[in-house]
Amino acid sequence: MRFLALPVLAATAAITGAAAPMPLVIADPMTAVQGELLISALPAGSRDLRLDGQPVHMDADGQFMLGVDRDFAGTRRLEWVTRDGRSAHRDLVVRPREWVIDRLPARLMTPADPNAPRNLEWERMREAEVAQVKAARAEVSPWPFWRATFQWPATGRISTHFGAQRVYGEVPASYHGGMDIAAPHGTPVTSPIPGVVRLAAGPFSLEGNIVIIDHGRGLYSAMMHLSRIDVKAGDIVAQGQQIGRIGSTGRSTGPHLHWGMTWNGVKVDPEALLPPMPAKAEQAR
Ligand SMILES: [Zn+2]
Repeated sequence: MRFLALPVLAATAAITGAAAPMPLVIADPMTAVQGELLISALPAGSRDLRLDGQPVHMDADGQFMLGVDRDFAGTRRLEWVTRDGRSAHRDLVVRPREWVIDRLPARLMTPADPNAPRNLEWERMREAEVAQVKAARAEVSPWPFWRATFQWPATGRISTHFGAQRVYGEVPASYHGGMDIAAPHGTPVTSPIPGVVRLAAGPFSLEGNIVIIDHGRGLYSAMMHLSRIDVKAGDIVAQGQQIGRIGSTGRSTGPHLHWGMTWNGVKVDPEALLPPMPAKAEQAR
């Protein structure tokens, strides 16, 4: 990491009326990839980190995380205050990523029928489910669990990657917001890093049996389609602790774990955070 100290522009000094211009620190650009949860660090003692003007939590040792939207293209801006009180900034260049795109003829898309009767009972139920999921991620807790090194919650074939998308003719369907790990029904699912269980409920109509784990500072894991749940809301789970078992509850065509991660509402790719799949599991596939 290289930092350049430059004199602040004379015009800025005139506006602020500062007697001696404070040097401005401009660091080399940083890069990230679309859909990445970037975990990085600035020099210890840095403070008031902002991403495009929005505050981002940073620990005293300078470590921080931020999620990059799957469809963001271009450059974002990080600004902060250095240990000695200077303002600093650095560009965050987001590199595009190749996504798995399934191109299908437009005729395969099921058109919404404007004359179909509304299923109010289903709508009410769905609204309540969505509200529970939203409430589970409403609080941004101060836990430092996000700093742990990630482990596989289950091993098996990755049946759908994060970001995969179907396009019907010219019309894109919504992209896959997590990673799917296919494994036999009943395979244990463990917590990839520690956290606090915020939701353990189901079966929901789409998610099936779902567990949402709060890893702190706006980072959450959602584990879906479980056949069984072994934790309850409020439990603190250790890394590697069993939270449930793989199943096919909710909208699912076969036993698999859907693991979705969000950082302050931004969906990020869990696969990019994982070490290579353990060798033993590779052999068992
Ligand atoms: Zn999935």
